[in-house]
Amino acid sequence: MHPTDLSDEVLIRTITAALEADGILTSASFDVVVSRRRTTHAVTTRPDGRRVVRILPTSTAAEITQFVRLNASRLADHARQMATRAPRHPDRRLTDGCELFWLGHSVRLHLVDTPVPVHMRQQEDGTGLLVVHRGDLERCGAQPIIDWYARAGRAWLEGAAPAHWARLRTRRPLPRLEVRDLGRCNGAIYQESAHQLTLHWAVFQLPPVLLEYVLVHELVHGTRPRGRSHGPEFRTRLLRVMPDALIRHEQFRAAYRFLWIGTTP
Ligand SMILES: [Zn+2]
Repeated sequence: MHPTDLSDEVLIRTITAALEADGILTSASFDVVVSRRRTTHAVTTRPDGRRVVRILPTSTAAEITQFVRLNASRLADHARQMATRAPRHPDRRLTDGCELFWLGHSVRLHLVDTPVPVHMRQQEDGTGLLVVHRGDLERCGAQPIIDWYARAGRAWLEGAAPAHWARLRTRRPLPRLEVRDLGRCNGAIYQESAHQLTLHWAVFQLPPVLLEYVLVHELVHGTRPRGRSHGPEFRTRLLRVMPDALIRHEQFRAAYRFLWIGTTP
């Protein structure tokens, strides 16, 4: 990242003023950025609805206002689409008996007064109870539960990853595996520098069929396919080991929006 230089500043200010005067984009609802990597200008919509107008160092105010006008209806469609895809992560009130999910199954929170580490207890009818010391919850909020998801998730990951990795037929070693909080935006990431794959603890609420998708998707990144990060080579490798990956991808995206990510009211 390099700081914006002075000529960019002037250009950004000029074009921002021209767009505000034109009135197609609501004032203060957009950012103008100068891009040196692009060859054409573009308007995109961020997940929070804010517009980003990407211009070139050679763009003029007339060119950009014209471009935005021509794309006005597409931008309106885009805004509607973003609203239906925006995350809707719910809060959870962590009371005794409240419902949580583990690997797609409904489990109940069971608060006890004896100090015990958080653990899952299977009942005779096959349903699970997540046993948590009441005092821990009062002191630390959702954290002890999040920590349990991270530990149990890691065990699941360590069990599942080697077989999927073997099917990808690469000479590389299995990436390092990690489970932790990844905030709101990412269910999983692969970091090339560390050859490490990290899953969000929250994805372990999903059924295994979607978890496997997330895992395999990141493992394919770990095989370092040539080209763009989700380009043709990536897709070929993904679909070879998981032919229904595109359907699972859509299912994952739909489910991820509604996952609990540790927030309480
Ligand atoms: Zn990816």
